[in-house]
Amino acid sequence: AERLLEIRNLTAGFLSEQGIVKATDRVTLSLDKGQTLCLVGESGSGKSVTSLAVMRLLEFAGGIILDGSIRFHGEDLMKKNQDELTRIRGNKLAMIFQDPMSALNPVFTIGDQIAESLQLHQKKKKKEAWSKAVDLLRLVGIPAPETRARQYPHELSGGMCQRVVIAIALACNPELLIADEPTTALDVTVQAQILDLLQRLKQEFGMSILLITHDMGVAAEMADRIAVMYAGIIAEEGTVAEIFDNPSHPYTIGLLKSIPGFEGERGEELYTIKGTIPSINQLPDGCRFHPRCPHVMSRCREEEPPLLAINADHHAACWLHEETAAAGQRVGVSAW
Ligand code: SF4
Ligand code: MG
Repeated sequence: AERLLEIRNLTAGFLSEQGIVKATDRVTLSLDKGQTLCLVGESGSGKSVTSLAVMRLLEFAGGIILDGSIRFHGEDLMKKNQDELTRIRGNKLAMIFQDPMSALNPVFTIGDQIAESLQLHQKKKKKEAWSKAVDLLRLVGIPAPETRARQYPHELSGGMCQRVVIAIALACNPELLIADEPTTALDVTVQAQILDLLQRLKQEFGMSILLITHDMGVAAEMADRIAVMYAGIIAEEGTVAEIFDNPSHPYTIGLLKSIPGFEGERGEELYTIKGTIPSINQLPDGCRFHPRCPHVMSRCREEEPPLLAINADHHAACWLHEETAAAGQRVGVSAW
């Protein structure tokens, strides 16, 4: 498979009165063409900061990239100037967010908003842009698209608005769609419909998706690979099969046990991971999960574990896997 996105050792954060606060620490991730990578974690785990950094939009949100590299199509996004980035964002990368209403302009019809994007990115003439806008509305599953195109955002439901936002994103024919909790604000039925739509677009257009979610159930349905983030680091990453069949970081295991119906008999009380995610400016020493970990060892309180290879396709930042990782390296499983 062709590598589309490669993030290496991305450390990003914010300036505070106490100095620099790191929201992500040496995050390393990759995404192949036509695949979906789900970034899973609680709020405050660094998922959104990672995605904003990929778009090079973090600067506009008051953040800074401190270290690392982001390669897209083999090009280093860190070396691009704002003009080049605007061109890349308009042609190859698109991003959608949780709240569709904030992404739409209330004073223009939805048809105009999609058409404007087409005129801008695909240099379409006005009339052609309008008919393409109607086509895009049909493509994203909006009924009676000719009529809907003349309506304003407030005349549409939240789910319909998110479809419109997706249509706008598609107007630039993106190779990578970054979707930050795109269904969190929607009710369950609508959520499933939007996820189906994203799956369909991925299959039909070979689009890659970086999907950010706090919901392991969503990741199970959508992901080819999953990266679990915890307090700014990648706690575990691997193929969806590896993560669900052989979860290896105690945090991931806790997340899975808290999915209704995933493990054990129905009606059994749901597991909750004790404690809360530490704030990024008050991280514990050693493994940052150690105050919540049921398997904590004395070493965990002092030394931070690196991402260790469970196998060539699966990594976890946990000392429990040191021997496995060392054995794998002896038999030649590539170090990541
Ligand atoms: Fe738990 Fe130690 Fe593994 Fe951290 S390194 S997740 S504290 S066992
Ligand atoms: Mg977020």
